[in-house]
Amino acid sequence: MNTNLQIEVVEITPYLLYFYWGRHPDHHMLDMRLGGGSFAIHKGQSAVVIDTMNIVGQGAWVRQYLENVHGIKHFTLVSSHWHVDHVIDNAVYADSTIIGHKRTREVMLAKKKTFEAGRYGNYGAFEVVPPNVVFEGELELWLADIQLLLQEYLVHEEGHLGIYLPADKIFIANDILEDPLWFFDFSFASATTQLAELERLKQQDIEIILPCHGTLDVIRNGGYDKQLIQANIDYLQSMLADLDHPDFATKTAPDYLSKPLENGTIQWCDAYTEVHALNRKMLLQRTHS
Ligand SMILES: [Zn+2]
Repeated sequence: MNTNLQIEVVEITPYLLYFYWGRHPDHHMLDMRLGGGSFAIHKGQSAVVIDTMNIVGQGAWVRQYLENVHGIKHFTLVSSHWHVDHVIDNAVYADSTIIGHKRTREVMLAKKKTFEAGRYGNYGAFEVVPPNVVFEGELELWLADIQLLLQEYLVHEEGHLGIYLPADKIFIANDILEDPLWFFDFSFASATTQLAELERLKQQDIEIILPCHGTLDVIRNGGYDKQLIQANIDYLQSMLADLDHPDFATKTAPDYLSKPLENGTIQWCDAYTEVHALNRKMLLQRTHS
């Protein structure tokens, strides 16, 4: 196994693992500076793997780990959305069922040439293997006696899936929620629609929230609660309310996050200054064009 990938494995419950690639402040890739990871649920000799991480090789590392340490022989992959830091190593599961939203498959195929030529961002070239089972809305999936509800939320990217485990009231949010703040894209759904979707998520019976990008210690200690949803809602709402403020262009993310930072719902991380700048640009483009 490639030990240079420095992946840390966190056992959240006896059947639920988090694979974390760490935060690397000087890395040339933004996703590596922000830090992130992926999840796997396993039972007996079968596993449902959620996303394939951020660099070619990491997805293979996770599969080998599950085979070697947990004796997994049968895999199902879920691709939460088409962003490269979630699908880069899908080729590792070319022999398996890969479940995703209809739009995830369509977008991956539309971008196939660009991805495979290494012309998308600075991810380098990678083989595109899109979902081979697609749906819209919600899909119920069983891993032995563990029920998984794959749920579409119009937040962050079109066709984005979260995974809800009703028995343990766990919601694997992937990029629907993020600590300290989330990445805006209003090209497929308006800010109003995405806020309504986050409100819909709040109505669900959830005790534990697990995002891909967050603070490792929080995930190690069992994850976030619903206050993370509110912190993400408040961040967008307070920026929207502030759009015409003369200092909008210079206000920092912590200016909008003082309450959840103070009460410990979220933890600040400097790399997110870049995400805040992109979010500000997105809001100005969408509301002033
Ligand atoms: Zn994403």
